[in-house]
Amino acid sequence: MNNIRVRFAPSPTGPLHIGGVRTALYNYLFARKYGGSLILRIEDTDQARFVPGAEEYIIEALAWLGIRFDEGVHIGGAHAPYRQSDRKPLYRQHVDRLIADGWAYCAFDTPEALDARRREYERQGKTFQYDAATRGAMCNSLTLPEEEVRKRLNDGAPYVVRFKFPADTQITVNDLIRGTVTVNSGQSDDKVLFKSDGMPTYHLANVADDHAMQISHVIRGEEWLPSAPLHVMLYRALGWEDSMPQFAHLPLLLKPDGNGKLSKRDGDRLGFPVFPLQWRDPASGEVSSGYRESGYLPQAVINMLALLGWNPGTQQEKFTMQELIDLFSLERISKAGAKFDLKKAHWFNHEYLMEQPVETIAGWFSETLKGKNLSADPARVARVCRLVKERVNFVSEIWDQASFFFVAPESYDPAAMKKRWKENTPAVMRDVRQLLESLPVFSGQAVHDALQAYAEERSLGMGEVMIPLRIALTGGTFGPDLQEIADVLGREEVLRRTDGILKNRE
Ligand code: GLU
Repeated sequence: MNNIRVRFAPSPTGPLHIGGVRTALYNYLFARKYGGSLILRIEDTDQARFVPGAEEYIIEALAWLGIRFDEGVHIGGAHAPYRQSDRKPLYRQHVDRLIADGWAYCAFDTPEALDARRREYERQGKTFQYDAATRGAMCNSLTLPEEEVRKRLNDGAPYVVRFKFPADTQITVNDLIRGTVTVNSGQSDDKVLFKSDGMPTYHLANVADDHAMQISHVIRGEEWLPSAPLHVMLYRALGWEDSMPQFAHLPLLLKPDGNGKLSKRDGDRLGFPVFPLQWRDPASGEVSSGYRESGYLPQAVINMLALLGWNPGTQQEKFTMQELIDLFSLERISKAGAKFDLKKAHWFNHEYLMEQPVETIAGWFSETLKGKNLSADPARVARVCRLVKERVNFVSEIWDQASFFFVAPESYDPAAMKKRWKENTPAVMRDVRQLLESLPVFSGQAVHDALQAYAEERSLGMGEVMIPLRIALTGGTFGPDLQEIADVLGREEVLRRTDGILKNRE
């Protein structure tokens, strides 16, 4: 494919939803696969919905995930500026042309007049729509005398510019995922293209910029499919139909149970983030969790998102970014919504965590230790991480698996004690203590051999010896190999903990 140019065009109305991240990812994969360009354009024409910090958030989140742009608001490029509010003068000329060519008109209806009209329709059990059938009875440049229109415009009367949908034209949208969608223009309302505040609406700005930035493919969420016929008509009206981009509308991201779209509220309610980074709402101060702060690795998030709506056609589940680039195709995107799968998200994180050098994991876990005012030799922390990492999906879970390496248990799991601490156990543990104290060399292997010999000599099961010692050292019956635990703790600590449990039981 030649001259592939795609864009990610978020509106800075809050934190970027994970569905938006997936849209950015698919655009990125598509651009990279075909040697094209990816553009980051900020669509901030709706000033009422502008949220401070959202643009910075979007840039930081995508950078964290490794989604790189070739042009954009943060890096510039041949089609700058990339923020729509900085492109304001460009849109006016398109609107003027549409009006001059009879494709748009000025509407002076006040909000009160529109409301009254809506209520009047409601009373008759109908829904009012500003369209080919009703525009003739409204207050606009099609119904008012020319003189009056000029006067109102000169007087600075507030007005919006609406698109004049033809009464009966078939509009065809060729969607690369959904196939051909045809709608009749008569069903469409005359969408506002330009607002009384002098700003274009999303529709006009989006089409004008996609044209100006020579976008070849518009890959975006399914929620924009209903707008596509208007966009096709705008390309036609502006004389750009020949170079109109191709459309691909991505399936929705659904709640884990498949019942409806994954919404901003779902995440913290169902126990997983719906935003890439943590977000503090500047107005309410409300904090929403993010994948990064929840301990997800960017590779895991990318891998998980790549498969939510696209599949490679094989059983392979783990992909590097480069593999995704090589395999990605719009043909393999499904039409059906993709269910978010929390277990899968955890599994991916586990997989990518295991790929990290143990020193890196240890470095992250050291932060947890620091937070608890514990310090430990880096080599020891690394050793502990090596022993427990298989059991965790997140670095934050290492503490639950390994706290006993750093602090002696203060209590013992009651269920384990009930089951494993028998009448003869104190005597056995006293013997074990002595044995371990007198070992010429204290090592995991030596501990193991000594306990085995002792159990055999006394005709005891290994469990009768090992499990009480494990409880003494860890507080429960979990954890890695006992001889490894003993080796890491060292003789002194093992004896201290054995004394501890014996004392506790007295
Ligand atoms: N600004 C729109 C959004 O926030 C972009 C839609 C599109 O890609 O055309 O989703």
